[in-house]
Amino acid sequence: VHGTSGAVRVEVPGLKRATELRNIIFVTSEVAPWSKTGGLADVLGSLPFALAERGHRVMVVAPRYAQYEGIEDTGVRVTLMGHAEVAYFHQQIRGVDFVFVDHPSYPRPGGLYADAHGVYGDNQFRFTLLCLAALEAPFFLPLPLPPQQLDPPRSPAQQSANGGPNGAHSEVGDVPSSKYGQDAVFIANDWHASLVPVYLAAKYRPHGVYRNARCILAIHNLRHQGVFSPSSFATLDLPPQWYGCLEWQYPPHQRQGSWAEEGRSVNHLKAGLTTADRIVTVSAGYAEEIQTYLGGWGMEGIIASRSPVLNGVVNGIDTDEWNPASDPHLPFNYDTTNFVEGKARCKMELQRELGLPVNEHIPLIAFIGRLDPQKGADILLAAAPGLLRHNNVQLVCLGSGNKDLEDGLRWLEGSFRDRARGWVGFNVPLSHRLTAAADILLMPSRFEPCGLNQLYAMRYGAVPVAHKTGGLRDTVIDFNPWNQSGTGWTYTSCDEQGLSHAIGLSLLTYHNHPDDFRKLQLRGMNREASWDQAAQQYEQIISWSVVDAP
Ligand code: ADP
Repeated sequence: VHGTSGAVRVEVPGLKRATELRNIIFVTSEVAPWSKTGGLADVLGSLPFALAERGHRVMVVAPRYAQYEGIEDTGVRVTLMGHAEVAYFHQQIRGVDFVFVDHPSYPRPGGLYADAHGVYGDNQFRFTLLCLAALEAPFFLPLPLPPQQLDPPRSPAQQSANGGPNGAHSEVGDVPSSKYGQDAVFIANDWHASLVPVYLAAKYRPHGVYRNARCILAIHNLRHQGVFSPSSFATLDLPPQWYGCLEWQYPPHQRQGSWAEEGRSVNHLKAGLTTADRIVTVSAGYAEEIQTYLGGWGMEGIIASRSPVLNGVVNGIDTDEWNPASDPHLPFNYDTTNFVEGKARCKMELQRELGLPVNEHIPLIAFIGRLDPQKGADILLAAAPGLLRHNNVQLVCLGSGNKDLEDGLRWLEGSFRDRARGWVGFNVPLSHRLTAAADILLMPSRFEPCGLNQLYAMRYGAVPVAHKTGGLRDTVIDFNPWNQSGTGWTYTSCDEQGLSHAIGLSLLTYHNHPDDFRKLQLRGMNREASWDQAAQQYEQIISWSVVDAP
């Protein structure tokens, strides 16, 4: 057993091509830019490229929620669970195979998981089907070898000119196709993919299939676990003796729903946690917290029992998409040499756009995020009146989700028309413009597995003010004026006072020590944020899973 629940250290950083190449298959319910509700999609839209650049063959399997442009039908059809026929669609981009599983249950007029009436009643079926479809993909899909695995390597342009996604085998000038086969490393993300290790152990390995495959469970958010009625076990097509692996007895205070009166349930994440070869979370801080009563959502005992195979790897960011020097959403691009002017111009443009007083000297404070108690938008709404009454600041909040909190943003804007804006909705271009315009970005999250907005903020020269939790405490280093170090402010008291006090410190530096504030911004902009380091850490965890006996 290698590593303990904490950060992974990489011995030889900077090596571009991995020494051992693998077939890596990510299984996920969302992937940017095709489907996104949060950070999970961003991770799946960028980490796979970093691994492909290091030479691995990488597939991402996700549902086909809509007809995506440029994605082609492979023609492969497989019947799963005895009755559900799925089709596989595919596109290879920069050496990564994006595979979309097609089934009538995926496209919905509402969101990916829920609509105005609540979560969809067939989510258990939809994501169980995803797990099974992903497990069959390596056997059924002949996919063109990516440029990084060709000898000599070819550019993606040469490759697509020579062969389509279903190119035949090895004709002269064609790109050879092959299947991924059994030596795959699955990376199952969150509860939606948690049955991947369960099916590997219950349905495949006993028949001598996937003997050398491994599965790493990646936890992006432990709050959502895939909890269903005990009777739903019968629909999962698992041998009866596996019921105990999925069963979960809830303590009385966590019981919800009629079947849960006795506290019994089927919990997909719990089954994944007990059967995966290794577990990874999106920060070392979160890896520690989920082993505690306060952060474990009932799973702390199970996770603690698996701590020898648990690690935290802080997410990177897509440094092409989030680059202030080339971001097409910004009215003015800037880098570390001209960020003071660049940010001032972005700020004034946003003030104009939102109808706020146009003045580059008024500090602009931003909040971007899902409106969910997790993100602490209610704490921000409680702190906002004091902040806005006593300071000449502007506060711009962008978010959607919980209806009461959406109303809260509208109330904020209505009450402070000359200082605050509450933009209700999901708006990616605005999130870029706001991050560029902001001087300070708030992350009052009650818990935060990693958090991406503070990473984007630092890269754009917006200084984060964050609750010291999970990935926020791993990535936001407190400002120390004595030795001029740090990239932001964190606070420990997760309430209105804690947040207000930390905002007060940031405003004090902004107004009274502008040089210190500039240096803080610069340190954030220069912080290493690419995926390469994290990709090497994932590789390290994969090698540990391969040497550990299953
Ligand atoms: P989580 O995954 O818990 O929602 P993260 O901070 O990891 O939180 O990632 C959130 C992602 O979703 C970021 O890319 C953020 O910019 C984006 N996001 C959240 N809310 C909105 C919104 N209303 N409009 C645009 N982007 C949003």
